Amino acid sequence: MTLAQEIICPRCDHRFPLSRLLNLCTCGSPLLVRYDLKKASANFSISSLQGRVSSLWRYRELLPLRDDANLVSLGEGFTPLLPAKSLAGELGLKRLWIKDEAQNPTGSFKDRGLSLAISRAKELGVKKAAIPSAGNAGGSLAAYAARARIEAHVFMPRDTPIANQIEVQQYGARLTLVDGLINDCGRIINERKTAEGWFDISTLKEPYRVEGKKTMGYEIAEQLNWTLPDVIIYPTGGGTGLIGMWKAFQEMEELGWIGSKRPRMVSVQASGCAPIVKAFGEGRETAEPWQNAKTVASGLRVPQAVADFLMLRALRESNGTALSVSDEEIIAEIPRLGRAEGIFFCPEGAACAAALRRLMQNGWVKPTDEVVLFNTASGLKYLDVLQAAQKREGSVST
Ligand SMILES: *Cc1c(COP(=O)(O)O)cnc(C)c1O
Ligand SMILES: [Zn+2]
Repeated sequence: MTLAQEIICPRCDHRFPLSRLLNLCTCGSPLLVRYDLKKASANFSISSLQGRVSSLWRYRELLPLRDDANLVSLGEGFTPLLPAKSLAGELGLKRLWIKDEAQNPTGSFKDRGLSLAISRAKELGVKKAAIPSAGNAGGSLAAYAARARIEAHVFMPRDTPIANQIEVQQYGARLTLVDGLINDCGRIINERKTAEGWFDISTLKEPYRVEGKKTMGYEIAEQLNWTLPDVIIYPTGGGTGLIGMWKAFQEMEELGWIGSKRPRMVSVQASGCAPIVKAFGEGRETAEPWQNAKTVASGLRVPQAVADFLMLRALRESNGTALSVSDEEIIAEIPRLGRAEGIFFCPEGAACAAALRRLMQNGWVKPTDEVVLFNTASGLKYLDVLQAAQKREGSVST
């Protein structure tokens, strides 16, 4: 069923068989799945997708799972691409879409990656998994691991939104709160994993979460009738979505499903934690660790990403850009979006809308550009954060 061929390292070209349980390459780089797309294009076409399941598993051949018996799904993906007419009118855009990832099973797009990672972990015999999480990945791992009967261990910063903490426990995973950030959580897992027998499911430290997230690229193309927009605005933490979509576009071109036109990719971060924005602005190939990271957009509180060089490469290859917005802008944007479009945005998605506003003002996005904006989770997962922000402001002003 799958057209996956092997695992390759994008830094040193080292190759690994699909039968091996893998984390990083021996050179320290993230690993990626490679497909035999020449063979595919002969007998696998766009029309093959007709009538398939409305989840990311509709792209079954382009996902790395060998045996359907190991497929762990809660109906993730194939989220709607909603026209944003009011917001478009307000900003002076003709074509603006919201890819609404809040409609995933646990309320965030982390489900895409965890469906793939847990399916493959099950296929390769993993019994215990551990994840460092800035919030949503923990809940997502907990849900999919429960379904796969895999023991799950989640490490989160102590000040992670309460919904993320509670959901982890309700799915039966072990939650450890850490006085620190996601990187500190990752370090603890790294120290303990051998003794505990945990498989490490950190962002881009195993090759499959990015395969789940790449399906956002396939879906946007399918939903726009096999064209791509001019601009994609995406909130960037660990970078799986950005790197995954960029990979998907390449795969679709090899399949003959799309041409060579690519969207300009925009990475949005919070001004309290913007390592990729800084590295992009300075023309660097990798990013320096961000000190004292702080933002209400917890999914963006990632001071250092192992795949920084892949994100920066995708941004530059696409003629894209990177920018940061303040927490005040983020908080102010959420009720505006709610009123304009009837969508309760998460802070990370609201950051994208604030970034779009800025890019319209400075002319980087033109009124004629077709734009896709990501809402990566439901605002419902951030009630405590929003309540605290409202209290700080002393009113529910908008
Ligand atoms: C994890 C997360 C992000 C960042 O996603 P990456 O693909 O890892 O960069 C953005 N928004 C939300 C809501 C998240 O949970
Ligand atoms: Zn390598």
